[in-house]
Amino acid sequence: MDIDEILNQAQTAVDAAVDLRSLDEIRVTYLGKKGELTSLLKGLGRLDPEQRPKVGALINAAKVKFQTTLDARKTLLEQQQLSAAINADAVDITLPGRSPTLGGLHPVTQALHRIEEIFLGAGYEVVAGPEIENDYYNFEALNIPSHHPARAMHDTFYFSDGTLLRTHTSPSQVRTMEQQQPPIRVICPGRVYRRDSDLTHSPMFHQVEGLVIDKGISFADLKGTVIDFLQRFFEKDLQVRFRPSYFPFTEPSAEVDVQCVHCLGDGCRVCSQTGWLEVMGCGLVHPNVLNMSGIDSEVYSGFAFGFGGDRLAMMLYEVDDLRLFFENDVRFLQQFN
Ligand SMILES: [Zn+2]
Repeated sequence: MDIDEILNQAQTAVDAAVDLRSLDEIRVTYLGKKGELTSLLKGLGRLDPEQRPKVGALINAAKVKFQTTLDARKTLLEQQQLSAAINADAVDITLPGRSPTLGGLHPVTQALHRIEEIFLGAGYEVVAGPEIENDYYNFEALNIPSHHPARAMHDTFYFSDGTLLRTHTSPSQVRTMEQQQPPIRVICPGRVYRRDSDLTHSPMFHQVEGLVIDKGISFADLKGTVIDFLQRFFEKDLQVRFRPSYFPFTEPSAEVDVQCVHCLGDGCRVCSQTGWLEVMGCGLVHPNVLNMSGIDSEVYSGFAFGFGGDRLAMMLYEVDDLRLFFENDVRFLQQFN
């Protein structure tokens, strides 16, 4: 075949190549070991000796031309490939950025802070105590001797050395009475533990207890304090009622119901159609408890109350399953940010 004809074909093929791979195939077709231009050079041996240099020069010139066309096409295709890649990876800098999500306080913590603020505003002090307690502070000093049936209600976690996880924050009250003479006005918020777990009980929950001791403290002071606190906490003018009850460390004792915060007394699913929600236990501090802690019960009297911080948070935020507070599902927690 004619050299010019081969060169023409080769250059047409190069111009038609759309990517680097097909371009390389074309290179092999003409310049490879068995390529068409290579074969022409190999065929020189069959020509007359005097013709060889002339034809050889023509073939080499064709090879150089072809190579030049090939290189130009290669550069063009490489540039196209590069700009395609750049376009594909393009970042749209006008899009809004993804802002890091900020954490927030847990709803129970928020409720506890709310409770603390109300009592701090009324002149109370916030005290804390150890979560690992001994039998004396958790039971004995609260008028619950070892034979007392009330111990069974507490479902206590015991350690092998006789210590225990406190079942209420009352030990903090005892420690306060030991260290401080009246007037005493404290609340003790904190974690407490009981062997109990279902829809409305968790093995760990938050309790807030309050203690006031002074001369002439009566049940009327307790009622006023509890009613005022509940109305401030729920920011509603709710009805409150006291039902006689029994606790070893108070005498007399009462349980407190508040008008259902959801239906305001009409009756709904949350209050089991009663219109009331049980919120706390309270009473006047038993003289035995005062005397055991070194406070003269002939001179001083006081009241104490205790309630679940988690339970109040459930009522405030209308959450119907206590476990939601402890599963740490971000979708749930985010709603309180
Ligand atoms: Zn209700």
